[in-house]
Amino acid sequence: MLDSNFLKENNAKHMWHPMAHPADMRNNPPKMIRAAKGVEITDIDGHTTLDAVGGLWNANLGYSVDSIKQAITEQMNELPYYSAFRGTTNDKAVELSFELNDWFKPEGMTRAFFTSGGSDSVETCLRLARQYHKVRGEGERTKFISLKKGYHGTHFGGASVNGNANFRRNYEPMLAGCFQIAAPWTYRNPFGTDNAEEIANRCIAMLEDEIAFQGADTIAAMIMEPVLGAGGVIVPHKNFMPMVREVCDKHGILLIADEVITAFGRTGDVHGSRLWGVAPDMMCTAKAITNSYFPFGAAMMGEKVVEAFESNKDAVGNIGHGYTYSAHPVGCAAALATLAEIKKAKVWENAKARGIELQNGLAQLKEKHQIVGDTRGIGLMAAIELVNDRPTKTPASKPAVAAAFDAAYEAGVTIRVSGNNIILSPPLVIGPEDVKLMIGALDKGLSAAA
Ligand code: PLP
Repeated sequence: MLDSNFLKENNAKHMWHPMAHPADMRNNPPKMIRAAKGVEITDIDGHTTLDAVGGLWNANLGYSVDSIKQAITEQMNELPYYSAFRGTTNDKAVELSFELNDWFKPEGMTRAFFTSGGSDSVETCLRLARQYHKVRGEGERTKFISLKKGYHGTHFGGASVNGNANFRRNYEPMLAGCFQIAAPWTYRNPFGTDNAEEIANRCIAMLEDEIAFQGADTIAAMIMEPVLGAGGVIVPHKNFMPMVREVCDKHGILLIADEVITAFGRTGDVHGSRLWGVAPDMMCTAKAITNSYFPFGAAMMGEKVVEAFESNKDAVGNIGHGYTYSAHPVGCAAALATLAEIKKAKVWENAKARGIELQNGLAQLKEKHQIVGDTRGIGLMAAIELVNDRPTKTPASKPAVAAAFDAAYEAGVTIRVSGNNIILSPPLVIGPEDVKLMIGALDKGLSAAA
């Protein structure tokens, strides 16, 4: 085993990290994780913590699921790779598309396009949305609408529909024809109210207004997360997504649900669109589909899209999009084993029950700690927003948020900090004791941040 100091030194010297400033690595080194078991992770210095981040919203069953590891090993031995580009495929890919068809039957999502992760799934949906309109003879529909604070990965298409300037500003110009409307967020919004239903209505009015301004016949799709995750866990009013669905239908605009985080149980329902009773036209999935053990995703296609492509025999219907690792047999095997475990355990039920306990605990922390401006979440996705001053909602400083991380880590829980938010997305198999441990560690973290 390589020496801990050697590794830390070389991390700063030789590795650039996603979503980090390279110059920051020496003064502010990341925790170096060496092992994981159950719902816990252990760093290189031997310190073990509850993983309240769940890897990155994706280790939903924790780190010790033998059936998935075994499926991966067996598939590695049987068929470690083969291409699914026209002409060949593999048995596990077919089996998985059949299985996913069953998962998304109520929403009529009958075709899976396999990818290597969330950004790939988003890119697939955006590209196929444009093609859908071309196939139907409405090729002038090229624009995309999305929500401010939305996160859709970092490929150029996904980053262009992103609603956070941090992921755009240094990479501009982005894809032309992408427009964002306000997110239905009670804590910070341009409407001067915290009434969730009213905010949802105002956002929908904005959406209608933007569609009229752009011209409905120029818009290919609206993309949104059913619950906004990376943007700070923004839970819309229950009417919001159904109203978006109605507006899209009225104007012939496709609705893409970005469920990279919300699919497979995290919100306390099977997936986020089902939580709100909406059938999207396309759905982006990834992350929990392999429980994080293999980079993989699936872009799901609904009946309307399938019908348009499959009834058109012209070259315009040919899918000129795909990845070397689309339908990777090891990823497919990992996904099959993961989905079997998720189904067996019905993890969304535990996510819902533990989520209620978590939200209650967070509400108590808000009462105790002035630095907490807002707490929010649903199922096992939650955020604590830290502010210097409650009336002005001035975001807490970076050192304050970092102090919260360090104290919680010391107290046995790894949390994630993003801007002035603490983000919580633990594995969906945690128990009541784990929730208590999280609240206790957060209590210490918030005291340290004050
Ligand atoms: N879409 C959403 C909603 C996400 O949360 C993420 C990642 O967190 C992505 C897309 C991008 O996924 P990936 O990082 O696997 O490319």
